[in-house]
Amino acid sequence: MILDAPPGARTQRHLLDVEGLPRAEILRIIDLAVEMRAARAARSHRSLLEAETVGLAFYEGSTRTRVSFELAAKALGATVVDLGVAGSSVSKGESLVDTVRTLERTGVTALVLRHGAAGAPYLAARTTGMAIVNAGDGMHAHPTQALIDALTLREALGSLEGRVVAIVGDAAHSRVVRSNLHALLELGVRVRLGGPPAWVRGFDGRPGIEVAGSLNEALAGADAVMTLRVQLERAAVGGVPSLREYTRHWGLDEKRMRLAGTDAPILHPGPTNEGVEIAAELANGPRSLIGRQVENGVPIRMAVLALVAGAA
Ligand code: ASP
Repeated sequence: MILDAPPGARTQRHLLDVEGLPRAEILRIIDLAVEMRAARAARSHRSLLEAETVGLAFYEGSTRTRVSFELAAKALGATVVDLGVAGSSVSKGESLVDTVRTLERTGVTALVLRHGAAGAPYLAARTTGMAIVNAGDGMHAHPTQALIDALTLREALGSLEGRVVAIVGDAAHSRVVRSNLHALLELGVRVRLGGPPAWVRGFDGRPGIEVAGSLNEALAGADAVMTLRVQLERAAVGGVPSLREYTRHWGLDEKRMRLAGTDAPILHPGPTNEGVEIAAELANGPRSLIGRQVENGVPIRMAVLALVAGAA
């Protein structure tokens, strides 16, 4: 069962965050995703969600997340409706609450919501009876990305207990890092966080997280490395002298990756700013799990939709 229903929510099945999801729940979702991958290949679950209508409401841009939620819902036989925010009444000033109530009245039973405001999915969960899945809210959380990354790392490294994962980059503005920290720490990973001081401030002192002062320190012997997109749309560049300066000190390429453990894989949630936080040769090279992260998107989202619909 996916927890995290906010006080006053009318249904108990949501995925709003990974914060608060215990290890057993995280592992259950990941294991279910592995089953879902096989079910998708065998086309065996094509009527699991046939009674459900899944709505997609993306108020911020998305390629991987939106497409994979749509394919996940369709693989399970749900009816899918994409609000297409730009062409909807949102452009006439319709409020989020009005929009989600309208979607519910038209028959949407589960809503996948991405919004620029942190907390928007919690508001939707309080004001409607739909199951809400957070597909990214401002700088707050991106729970399905963290579940994808946990599955991808487990497939690459085996058990994650005691492993060292270096996370490098713009942590300050990243919803991905916040969700990843919860999931990885819950799974027993030791996290090393590296980046310019303004982008890692506030993370030190938290149990299980070590803030590294240099790239060398962050990568030394790490079992895996994850780098984050510089969040240009969230005014990230205010925190560094220039992007060029950032790349000089913290940009990842094949050569710098040799500081990490032999064959340590590189992850990135996408989309990449190639040549800024990651060199193209590394993103497309043999250490890269970036394509695998994308592939794991559909089965993780199948698992989440099945769980919030009460079908698994
Ligand atoms: N796609 C991820 C997100 O929506 C990562 C990123 O955009 O940097 O947060």
